[in-house]
Amino acid sequence: MTEILLTNAELADGRLVHIRISGGLITEIGPELEIAGEIIDCTGLIAFPGFVDLHTHLREPGSENSETVLTGSRAAAKGGYTAVHAMANTNPVADTAAVVEQIHRLGIEAGYVEVQPIGAVTVALAGERMAELGLMNKSKANVTIFSDDGRCVSNSLLMQRALEYVKGFDGVIAQHAQDPQLTNNSQMNAGDLALRLGLTGWPEVAESSIIARDCLLAEQTGSKLHICHLSTASAVDVIRWAKGRGINVTAEVTPHHLLLTEDLLEGYNSIYKVNPPLRSAADVQALRLAVADGTIDIIATDHAPHPAENKECEFGQAAFGMVGLETAASVAYSTLVTTGLINHARFQQVMSEAPARISGMQNQGCELAPGTVANLTLFDPKVNYTVDLESESKSSNNPFLGLTLQGKVVHTFFRGIQTVRDSKVLNMGEVVA
Ligand SMILES: [Zn+2]
Ligand SMILES: [Zn+2]
Repeated sequence: MTEILLTNAELADGRLVHIRISGGLITEIGPELEIAGEIIDCTGLIAFPGFVDLHTHLREPGSENSETVLTGSRAAAKGGYTAVHAMANTNPVADTAAVVEQIHRLGIEAGYVEVQPIGAVTVALAGERMAELGLMNKSKANVTIFSDDGRCVSNSLLMQRALEYVKGFDGVIAQHAQDPQLTNNSQMNAGDLALRLGLTGWPEVAESSIIARDCLLAEQTGSKLHICHLSTASAVDVIRWAKGRGINVTAEVTPHHLLLTEDLLEGYNSIYKVNPPLRSAADVQALRLAVADGTIDIIATDHAPHPAENKECEFGQAAFGMVGLETAASVAYSTLVTTGLINHARFQQVMSEAPARISGMQNQGCELAPGTVANLTLFDPKVNYTVDLESESKSSNNPFLGLTLQGKVVHTFFRGIQTVRDSKVLNMGEVVA
């Protein structure tokens, strides 16, 4: 077994160290290790525990023309991830033990990241009957997070029962907070621009009212609630209030909601059409500050690949969603660290530690220490680069194309195996074990 020595890497707390990897584990970390094995010079790079994405759409089974578990896993590795959580809105829906086990197995076969399936809350995401949550949890996929993402669990009684049910095995319900009645045919953020463009508005209260209801249900049931993709200042206020009451709620924000605003819709370019929609500059600022003050726990990509034909059509008909796995860390770094809002330790929390904790994952996202599984990301904080079309994803609905970002993933290691070298994804035949 080859030993790898990463030399002169900086940890999130600022210490300069060498890191020895052997047998899939980190075996030693320290400033003065014996120089032996394959040396990878990490001068100028920061070593983080591999990033963990709590919200990815891998599209397999059912929409393999958009993405597969393999292509999505490669895109994730390129983005510095060592684990992704695959949302349940596949075809068939991931609402049984058989489907979640299939997705889990595809992830193992791909071998680039841990693919942890998320189970549907309701059968076929129809919002009517609860899916087999317990069986999915007991399956080989060991599902701990359940979500009808793409749709909101809008029935209060069902939401309450689902929260109660998952409490039995310490599971989490992840809510896509969107009141369906308040967003009938909604296309973009409600406001002056929507009026001027003649597009149906998507009011903030459609998000914040569901979050408030669910926080109160989580308080009543004593269960764990996670809120997907916060997009508004009022949603942040509700989460802050709920946490102040001691409610067991966590929240995520996407890279695109930390950087992009509704003004981009001026030209009806459907690349910027996403659910929840891009909001105002004031919302973006509120979301950034909420990551800094701990109200928002994690960055999650909501990577949502779509083939060109589903985007290159009339705005009203175009699909909602954007890709984001490969650029997430750069967007998060540029909007939060470069701006001085958070430090590297907090970046590590929101990209690795907190998502792993919410999911209850073993051996993922923990601090880098001897004896832990060697899941690492080496990140260059200084480099600036312009996002181009080169991508591992099957889809190119990328809203960051042409933008210059600061900070880039250089190397990724998954269970001690290098999956990305010099920002290029390795093929499994050429990986160093
Ligand atoms: Zn969603
Ligand atoms: Zn989603």
